[in-house]
Amino acid sequence: MSFDLNLGLGMSNLGGGEDNNYDVVIIGGGPAGASAAIYTARADLRTLVIDKGLTAGALGITGKISNYPGVPGPVTGAELVEIMRAQAESFGAKFITDKVVGVDISGERKMVMAGTGAFYTKVIMLATGSMGRTSVVKGEEEFLGRGVSYCATCDGAFFRNQTVAVIGNNDEALEEALFLTKFAAKVHLVVPTPELKAREALAAEATTHPKIEVQLGTRLKEIVGNGQVAGVRVHPRGGDEQTLPVTGAFVYLQGGKPITDYLMAQLETEPNGCLVVDKEMQTTVPGVFAIGDLLCTHIKQAVIAAADGVIAAVAADKYIHGRKAVQTDWK
Ligand SMILES: Cc1cc2nc3c(=O)[nH]c(=O)nc-3n(C[C@H](O)[C@H](O)[C@H](O)COP(=O)(O)OP(=O)(O)OC[C@H]3O[C@@H](n4cnc5c(N)ncnc54)[C@H](O)[C@@H]3O)c2cc1C
Repeated sequence: MSFDLNLGLGMSNLGGGEDNNYDVVIIGGGPAGASAAIYTARADLRTLVIDKGLTAGALGITGKISNYPGVPGPVTGAELVEIMRAQAESFGAKFITDKVVGVDISGERKMVMAGTGAFYTKVIMLATGSMGRTSVVKGEEEFLGRGVSYCATCDGAFFRNQTVAVIGNNDEALEEALFLTKFAAKVHLVVPTPELKAREALAAEATTHPKIEVQLGTRLKEIVGNGQVAGVRVHPRGGDEQTLPVTGAFVYLQGGKPITDYLMAQLETEPNGCLVVDKEMQTTVPGVFAIGDLLCTHIKQAVIAAADGVIAAVAADKYIHGRKAVQTDWK
């Protein structure tokens, strides 16, 4: 996947004003990112967590958790993440719902580009998990930037009074579909599963919105067009294929691959594409850390992701304050 960072900049806040400056920006608010935020906020570091949607992450979609230490359960994964986020917020961390589409890690002052604007920071933590897509549908790459998008916040304004399709079933897809109703005349919500897998309130809002038409149990087969997107070919379960005439296709499908597209190959990886980190979770660029399922060499469990976040948070504090030894006397 790739993103055109030029798209949507008209809507962005690129000024780098005081409100957009942080000590730590964490990309991804699952157990890795939320746990890191608990520790960085507790250490008085100005902390922002940018997350594209609770049910866009592995824990957020998990129905029952019973093995997270200290939380006997069963709780839903979403409930567990919300507990962690609330704990981080209680220490001063700020959470926003947005999708990160790019980063600039070339200088000491680093930049994180999200759909709503740019954020500046001393430390970046990558905690985007491994729900990335493993394949693309026919036409997706051909029409990328010509009707195909992965960021309604960035590109939605280009589709004023047009008909678009949003493909996905999670919080992210629904948030984006609702955002698109500000501009588009009509939004087809193409849901690959028989049911939505999003927060109840969000699902209720999206499914009752007069501009959104929901098609459950419907697979995206192809994006068609001629130079620009002209339609999406879809297959409803048990029905006949049809082509929905749309000028935009916003794709939010998921798979099992580490999500690193927004890094645009700025960080060193192993031959298998996995990010290289040291024992403090720091990547090959000082001040950039990677934690959780995003890292390949991992037992994929919430407690491991959370522990990664803590290790990185302590190291980030050391990095910011130029300390030689790790500070352990936080109360
Ligand atoms: C079906 C299933 C069942 C599981 N059951 C258990 C279990 O019982 N016990 C257990 O301990 N573990 C379980 N796991 C594993 C556990 O969920 C993961 O190990 C854990 O969630 C990893 O945490 P993470 O923070 O690294 O990633 P995630 O939980 O995937 O969180 C990543 C976050 O990053 C956000 N994000 C991604 N890209 C962007 C972007 N570009 N911009 C902004 N935000 C972004 C996502 O919205 C998401 O919230 C299960 C996983 C699955 C899939």
